[in-house]
Amino acid sequence: MNEFELIGRYFDRKQKPADVKVGVGDDGAVLVPETDRDQVQVIDTLIAGVHFPVETKPADIGYRVVAVNLSDIAAMGARPRWMTLALTLNDNSEQWLQSFTNGLFEAADEHNVALVGGDTTRAAQVTVTVTITGDVERNAALLRSGANVGDTIYVTGTLGDAAAGLDCLRRHQADAFLVSRFLRPTARIETGRALVGKAHAAIDISDGLAGDLKKLLSASGLGACVEIERLPLSTPLQQRFDAQHQMRFALTGGDDYELCFTAAADTVAAISGITAIGTVTESPQLTFTLGGDVVDIDDSGYRHFA
Ligand code: ADP
Ligand code: MG
Repeated sequence: MNEFELIGRYFDRKQKPADVKVGVGDDGAVLVPETDRDQVQVIDTLIAGVHFPVETKPADIGYRVVAVNLSDIAAMGARPRWMTLALTLNDNSEQWLQSFTNGLFEAADEHNVALVGGDTTRAAQVTVTVTITGDVERNAALLRSGANVGDTIYVTGTLGDAAAGLDCLRRHQADAFLVSRFLRPTARIETGRALVGKAHAAIDISDGLAGDLKKLLSASGLGACVEIERLPLSTPLQQRFDAQHQMRFALTGGDDYELCFTAAADTVAAISGITAIGTVTESPQLTFTLGGDVVDIDDSGYRHFA
C-alpha cells in the first residue's frame, strides 16, 4: 500500500461537515469559520517511549493524542472544530493503522471534530502530532492571566489517577480505572464551555496541579492557598496507594488533563463535577496546607528541559 492509498483508506472519511469545503486530499484544507468568534489554535505531540510506553495499543495512542489537544481547547473555553494530524510511523502495518484510527476518530467523534489534513512520514520512533482549531465567543477565551484576589480555586474530576495509572502500567499491575485515566483522558470541553463568562482564569493540568496552578498564578501576578485535604481523589487511587503516594500523584503527577480555574464562588455554583480546593491571595506564593499546617511540595511536575 503506497502513502496515497494509505491516506485514502484510513484518513479520508468522505462525509464532510458543512464547515469543511475541502478536507483531506488537496494541498490544503479550505474551512469556513463563523464570523464574530475568535479562533483558538492548539498543538501537542506524543512520542513513543517519552509520552507513552512503546507497547501502548495504537487505539489508545490515537485516542490520547486527540484528547490531550481537546484538553487545551477546553482550558480556553473553546469549542473544537477541525484537526490536522502529523504521523510518523515505523512500519505500515494495516493493523496498526486500523487500531490507531479507531481510537483517533473515537475521540474526535465525541466532540464532532473533523480531520481536515495531515502529513505522513516514516522514522524509527513513532511520533504523533495533532493540531486542533476551535472557536470561542469574541474576547471570551479563558486565559491564565485573569485571576482575582479572593477567587475560589476549583478543579474538575479527580486528581492523580493518570500518574497512578502510569505507575501501574510500569509495574505491570492491572487497574482498569487508573490505567484508563492515563491512556484515555477525558477532555473537559463541556465544563470549559460552561465556564465562559464565569471563570476568571483557567489552565489544564498536564504536568501536575502544583506546577500548573503556579503557571496560572504567575500569569495572574498572584498567589494562592490550597488545602490538601480538599483535593478530589478517586476511590481506586485511595484503595491502591498510601496517603503519601496519593498526595504526590495528586499534586505533582502529570497527565490528568483536568481543568483548574478560578472564579467567584457564587457564579459557578450550578456547574457539576468541580471541587473547590483553595483561594487566590494577594501575596504571590503558592502555599499548601494539611491539617492547618503549611507543607512543602516539590512542584517540579514533569519537565522536558530541566
Ligand atoms: P503535500 O505533498 O501537498 O503536502 P501530501 O501528499 O503530504 O500533500 O498529502 C496529501 C493529502 O493527504 C493532503 O490533503 C494532506 O492533508 C492529507 N494527509 C496526509 N497525511 C495525512 C494524515 N496522516 N492524516 C490526514 N490527512 C493526511
Ligand atoms: Mg502540496
